[in-house]
Amino acid sequence: MPDIPQLDQEVTLGREVVDALHCWRGRIGEIFTACDPQQQEYRVRIVALNDDSVTLLPFAEIPPSESPLRITLFQALPEKERFELVLQKATEIGVVRIVPYQSAKSSTMEERDSGQKKSHRWPNVLLRAARQCRRGEIPELSPVVDWQEALAECADAEMSLLCYEGEGAWPLSETINKFKGHRVAVMVGPEGGFTKEEIEQARAKGVQPVSLGPRILRTESAAILAAGIIQFAAGD
Ligand code: SAM
Repeated sequence: MPDIPQLDQEVTLGREVVDALHCWRGRIGEIFTACDPQQQEYRVRIVALNDDSVTLLPFAEIPPSESPLRITLFQALPEKERFELVLQKATEIGVVRIVPYQSAKSSTMEERDSGQKKSHRWPNVLLRAARQCRRGEIPELSPVVDWQEALAECADAEMSLLCYEGEGAWPLSETINKFKGHRVAVMVGPEGGFTKEEIEQARAKGVQPVSLGPRILRTESAAILAAGIIQFAAGD
């Protein structure tokens, strides 16, 4: 919610919120979780809804569901609908930002959209997942970027990790256990994996390769497991 609301006092909001409610077919009388700019979360009821405005009644403050850890997930664009699974599960795990990227061996946007599900559905997937798990904050979805841009942004976090099944990767659980900051970035590679050059470039920028164990996981499984381990070990 854009303003800090008072409990039991109605607030009327405009098109941005109306459009979001229409996405998940919100109806008068429905209850959901919303948050104000300070991340305080409320249970709110829809008391009026038309094409241009919605009136909400915040009736209870609830303990924040957001983790102190701010996890950004960099996901190499997978095929077909697998990215939707990543969006959904990353939202449930508490990831705050998801950056799809194209690397040497990943799908292109054109290949991805030739699957059944289209990229225009992605914001709606996030919204529904946030609603389902009662998160007030909907993760931010970045436009698709290229490898260099993704790597530069990943390297900018307080802890920058890259999931790598090859030699020289540290165990993720041990690495994250020592972390005391808030901003973690984790990169997951495409079905075809990272190239040797990409791994070298990541190391050169201070992005630490980490292992998720001896089995080779599908890219979406690696993303979900990595985000889950990081949240469990260092967040909430
Ligand atoms: N191309 C690789 C191969 O065939 O050996 C496998 C790539 S894997 C399907 C896709 C991505 O998931 C990898 O780039 C990596 O980021 C992540 N991944 C999968 N298994 C992993 C593991 N055991 N440890 C760390 N990352 C893993």
